[in-house]
Amino acid sequence: MKFNTKAIHGGQDNTDPAYGSVMPPIYQTSTYSQTTPGGHKGYEYSRSANPTRTALEKSIASIENGEYGLAFGSGLAAIDAVMKLFKPGDEIVSTNDLYGGSYRLFTKIFENMGLKFHFIGMQDAADIEKYINENTKLLWVETPTNPMMNIIDIKACSKIAKKHDILLAVDNTFATPYLQQPLDLGADIVMHSATKYLGGHSDVVMGSLVVKDKELSEKLYFIQNASGAVCGPQDSFLVLRGIKTLHLRMQRHCENGEAIAKYLKGHPKVGKVYWPGFEDHPNHEIAKSQMSGFGGMISFTTKEGTLESAVSVVEKLHVFTLAESLGGVESLAGHPASMTHASIPKEEREKTGVVDSLIRLSVGVEDEEDLINDLKKALG
Ligand SMILES: *Cc1c(COP(=O)(O)O)cnc(C)c1O
Repeated sequence: MKFNTKAIHGGQDNTDPAYGSVMPPIYQTSTYSQTTPGGHKGYEYSRSANPTRTALEKSIASIENGEYGLAFGSGLAAIDAVMKLFKPGDEIVSTNDLYGGSYRLFTKIFENMGLKFHFIGMQDAADIEKYINENTKLLWVETPTNPMMNIIDIKACSKIAKKHDILLAVDNTFATPYLQQPLDLGADIVMHSATKYLGGHSDVVMGSLVVKDKELSEKLYFIQNASGAVCGPQDSFLVLRGIKTLHLRMQRHCENGEAIAKYLKGHPKVGKVYWPGFEDHPNHEIAKSQMSGFGGMISFTTKEGTLESAVSVVEKLHVFTLAESLGGVESLAGHPASMTHASIPKEEREKTGVVDSLIRLSVGVEDEEDLINDLKKALG
């Protein structure tokens, strides 16, 4: 099956035995009747498994070309489950320019529990090996990175991970499986904040993991059930519905993203524009080789370079909504330094380019001309 078909049918068995419903019912139940102790139909308690969640988990596994999918109450809950594979003394090499909440989880929760993190620029994969020692257990990669849109070579990371017999996990939230399939490039775990493009309609918070390896899936399933950060059936249904139009939405996100990136690049009030589709993006060639499109996430600075100039632009936008999050049908604008990345110390974030004049856009699927006019007015 090709991607567009998988988005709709992947992992789904459309044979509802009760009434033939085309969509899986929302099994809004915590428990399931048993005929005799242990005599159940595969479901005992909804933390362990729920049929609506199972349908979603199979769909996500299918579109990521994986074997096993696991859905969680949020993207961070999914990352939390990955980190619980490890024990005190284990080391993790992570992208330095990553989602602020991931950084907070690593440094404020898991460092206290004895894991050691090395945050490094991974744009040159050769740098990674310097940080690997006998305690290293995982490479944590986010690409494109949030919000600087750096590109990390997943295949090169996979080679390094295999050489040292460690795991490679990729946060694929920005690219989505429509544009990039990390398991095919050698990753062991692919993670999503399904809150973003998979859900796609800004109406649910959810996370997921997909793996190919059975043993790894069993360990993660054990953690999912034992720690219990699962998502509910209603939310599972919403994300399953979202995935059915992922390919259609992503096409438009890419088209609008390209138009807006190019518009911003030529604008006299704009400083730098970060978008991996530009030929002068430092890792454009890698982006081209591992992604089938460049997506709708763009960051840019104001020419003036001040906090006030960036705030003034985001406040003047009307079609773009000033809000955290990304990946929905509606266009959003954010100010990373004071919003999504406020949990990263100023000194740390400025090292990676998250300066006060940086604005991040999640370009939606509205009319391109309306979006450009909105930016035109806001930039003045
Ligand atoms: C939003 C986001 C997360 C966290 O996901 P939640 O669903 O908000 O918990 C992780 N990684 C990236 C890249 C994100 O954008």
